[in-house]
Amino acid sequence: MLGWTIHDVGPNILVESAVVGFAAANCYVVGCRETMEGVVIDPGTMGTDDTSEIANEIRRLGLRIKYILNTHGHPDHISGNDYLKVAVGGEVLIHQLDALKLTDPVRNASTMFGMNMYVSPPDDLLKDGDTVSFGNLSLAVAHTPGHSSGGVVFVGDGFVFTGDTLFSGSIGRSDLPDSSDEGTVAYDVLLRSIREKLLTLPDETVVLSGHGPATTIGDERARNPFLR
Ligand SMILES: [Zn+2]
Ligand SMILES: [Zn+2]
Repeated sequence: MLGWTIHDVGPNILVESAVVGFAAANCYVVGCRETMEGVVIDPGTMGTDDTSEIANEIRRLGLRIKYILNTHGHPDHISGNDYLKVAVGGEVLIHQLDALKLTDPVRNASTMFGMNMYVSPPDDLLKDGDTVSFGNLSLAVAHTPGHSSGGVVFVGDGFVFTGDTLFSGSIGRSDLPDSSDEGTVAYDVLLRSIREKLLTLPDETVVLSGHGPATTIGDERARNPFLR
């Protein structure tokens, strides 16, 4: 059984996460309490039964799912897209530079890890500066390449979903085949993304990352060894 962690980030928003799949990714279920419209972020269940448990939790909460959002196209963040779309609905959205990773196990690096994982193409594409709205809530899309060329973070009011860009005490790996498409060192691209798109947020901003525990921008600014 998945254990769900409740994140209290505001009065009108419900946020729950569970650690899913054998890559231990955080899948987030997010909902507007006033309308009960919601989204799922990164259902990276890797072919496990965790997908049906996510669907059950969404039904238990009574959410209508508008979107399935992928912070980037790696298998531990996308693999439950198709199952959830059938089970609870929702349009799949991903950044335009990571769209091809959904359908191509070489591009999404799953073959590199001895798997052959792919899902359906997205319903729509995201780019930097877009807004994803559901119920009375909205998330701003910020493009953060360096871990994956089409990686994004979703910025809300006082919180941010950082995918594999920033973790508590760490940052994403930048040595994957398509960490950046800028022809420069992906590690530098990742640090620039973090500096420009995340460290510009207020210290009290809650960081809900793709793996590991929640943290805040202020804690990472002060203590993350990669950001010194
Ligand atoms: Zn990743
Ligand atoms: Zn990951």
